[in-house]
Amino acid sequence: MTHSLIAEPPNFASVRERVAHLRQEIPPHVRIVAVTKTVSVELMREAYAAGIRDFGENRLQEAIAKQAALADLPDLTWHFIGHLQRNKAKQALTHFQWIQSVDSLALAQRLNDLAANLTAPPKICLQVKLRPDPSKFGWTPEDLLERLPELQKLSHLSIQGLMTILPLHLSASEQQQAFQETHALAQQIHQHATTPLPLTELSMGMSGDYPFAIEAGATIIRPGRILFGSRPT
Ligand SMILES: *Cc1c(COP(=O)(O)O)cnc(C)c1O
Repeated sequence: MTHSLIAEPPNFASVRERVAHLRQEIPPHVRIVAVTKTVSVELMREAYAAGIRDFGENRLQEAIAKQAALADLPDLTWHFIGHLQRNKAKQALTHFQWIQSVDSLALAQRLNDLAANLTAPPKICLQVKLRPDPSKFGWTPEDLLERLPELQKLSHLSIQGLMTILPLHLSASEQQQAFQETHALAQQIHQHATTPLPLTELSMGMSGDYPFAIEAGATIIRPGRILFGSRPT
């Protein structure tokens, strides 16, 4: 795999070409969730034309407005990837098929209660934090292992796997290490759980680190800037 796209503003003319280039570069089984926070619906349509069907958003209001504007595209899957407050859980379940950022037992329990009334269980990922990072939410491995018995009781949720966001400013080898530990944690949970909790999805890797994430077993990557250019700060 080439690392040519890392941290470089893409040299391609269009979103369409950037998507095509990324798709070619990564293994076919890796799902691309295009992260479209602050990105216009026009550019999202370009991404769609290039084959993107999964969009990731971290703000409910922004996502709901875009979903309305893109309602003519029938086969989209929406992933919530931001910190979700418990009082917004119901709205999130109405508007997203996946909630990748479940970062506490209280939130998981709230989602489970609400999901009892749904026809299909929502797909969720447990957001983990393999390195201390005060600016990020997420379970530490210890917390998660301790809470597993309670998480396993949440029968209305479809727990798909783990999601992680690395802290900024790690070296390449530190990034590799942290992704490998995330993979090992998923395996550990799979093996130690009393009732098996098959964590088949590993959502890790953003524009700056996705090749390492894929090397460590990512099944979902979440690129933003590399497809759409840098965001306003
Ligand atoms: C913003 C964001 C991304 C995308 O980051 P880029 O650096 O633009 O690729 C991925 N995952 C999460 C959770 C994000 O908030």
